[in-house]
Amino acid sequence: MRQPLLAGNWKMYKSIAEARTFIKSLRSALGPISNRQVVVCPPFTELTTVAEELKGSPIALGAQNAHWEKQGAFTGEISVGMVAETGCQFVIVGHSERRQYFSETDATVQKRMQAVIAGGLTPIVCIGETLQERESNQTFAVIERQIKIGLANIARPSEIVIAYEPVWAIGTGKTATPEQAQEVHAFVRQQISALYGEPAAQAMRILYGGSVKPENIAALMQQPDIDGGLVGGACLDADSFAKIVNFDVAQKTAAR
Ligand code: PEP
Repeated sequence: MRQPLLAGNWKMYKSIAEARTFIKSLRSALGPISNRQVVVCPPFTELTTVAEELKGSPIALGAQNAHWEKQGAFTGEISVGMVAETGCQFVIVGHSERRQYFSETDATVQKRMQAVIAGGLTPIVCIGETLQERESNQTFAVIERQIKIGLANIARPSEIVIAYEPVWAIGTGKTATPEQAQEVHAFVRQQISALYGEPAAQAMRILYGGSVKPENIAALMQQPDIDGGLVGGACLDADSFAKIVNFDVAQKTAAR
């Protein structure tokens, strides 16, 4: 069975002092963690502080991006080795905000993902269609292209995590219904199966992202192909993220 993964993407929020307080609150709100994996992805400048605050906790650390080169004249970028040095085990790659505002393409997503894998970390690769693409019935074509190019030539496919994040549901309060999300998640798994075989597809975790909240996580997690959540807005409050993480895993097991 795939272990559920709940990841919080802090985006460009929280100072170092706020990060410290937040991790303390999160640890006490969460209590013991079992049958699931939890990841927090703060901004780069908070990684070291958060790593310190997470000592002795099963909560893993992730970065929000990393460059494909090991070092060099790439002002404003940060390498996989650099984020690994802070204690990161995960890196978000190809978030729709990176694609939309920083000209990230399927080809650069693929390069970043390969570098993350080569560096021994786990990429959380984001894919998803815009509202216009959904309304013009292009969802599956877009997802297929993002997978074919962005996730090309993966040596160990079961070691990557995919996050399906419909762009129209990110930060908008509009969640895809569990059925809408499941339909795309099943399609993603089919595509992975066609490229890398059924065992790899069955082992790969596919997260849903887009206005995940304490109120909708349980229904989303009941879907057979939804293996966790990538959470933005609702992960910034410790109690709200703790409620999402502590969704009733028994319901997930029963739904299988
Ligand atoms: C995200 O940033 O990946 C995200 C899904 O944001 P939100 O939960 O706020 O929609």
